[in-house]
Amino acid sequence: MKLVITLVFLRMNYGITLFNQKMKKIVLIFYILLLSINLQAEELKYGKFYSDGLPTKKWVTLTFDDGPNPFVHDKIFEILKKEKIKATFFILGSNMARFPNSANKYIQYGQEIGNHTYSHLSFYNLRKKKTKNEFKKILIDEIDRTEEMIKDITDVKPLFLRMPNGFNSPVVEEVAKERKYIIVNWSFGFDWKKMSKDQLVEKYLNKIKPGAIILMHEKKLTAEALPEIITGIKKKGYEIVPLKEILSIKNTD
Ligand SMILES: [Zn+2]
Repeated sequence: MKLVITLVFLRMNYGITLFNQKMKKIVLIFYILLLSINLQAEELKYGKFYSDGLPTKKWVTLTFDDGPNPFVHDKIFEILKKEKIKATFFILGSNMARFPNSANKYIQYGQEIGNHTYSHLSFYNLRKKKTKNEFKKILIDEIDRTEEMIKDITDVKPLFLRMPNGFNSPVVEEVAKERKYIIVNWSFGFDWKKMSKDQLVEKYLNKIKPGAIILMHEKKLTAEALPEIITGIKKKGYEIVPLKEILSIKNTD
């Protein structure tokens, strides 16, 4: 697109050389304007897949999956509030149906909600068993149902999609693009494995790196370990920033 704009500009500019200088200036301004609009549009790429943020700074972001879990999330919200951290919660439509009062809490606490599909199906198995069209239909249904629930309750259209088990494929990217999502996996995560709180803290802190997208879950032990993990991250000289920031996403229409 940028190439097309530049070629049109050069062609116009050449034709005008013999015409007058004022006209040349107008065309130049028009060209810069077009180019800047085009650049802005290119910043936000729906359907794009990330598993790491930009490694340009000592910064990480926190993400929590599989909620809402009302037995745990209040504790997590309070810790994040105290630390002034904006995390991203990838929630399931099926859990929202069970706990409809929870969805608004994410917004009240200034947290970001991401779409984690409706029922956490095994898309790795589905891909083997279904035709491409069947698979796509199920995927769309899983994403749309959750999106509609999130929008109904919170009035917010989620920007980020995280597929169950981090599944990705060209079909997922196609649907994400159509539905205006950015697909986000993670750099590392451990809290579904059996271990003590101290081991969990250590595991997370050992892996901290610039641009890390940290995966956690709305789990009791995770909530208990969270204050120490946050303190440890900060001690290493890292900032904990929102997902949008670490992916350098500025425009969200
Ligand atoms: Zn999950």
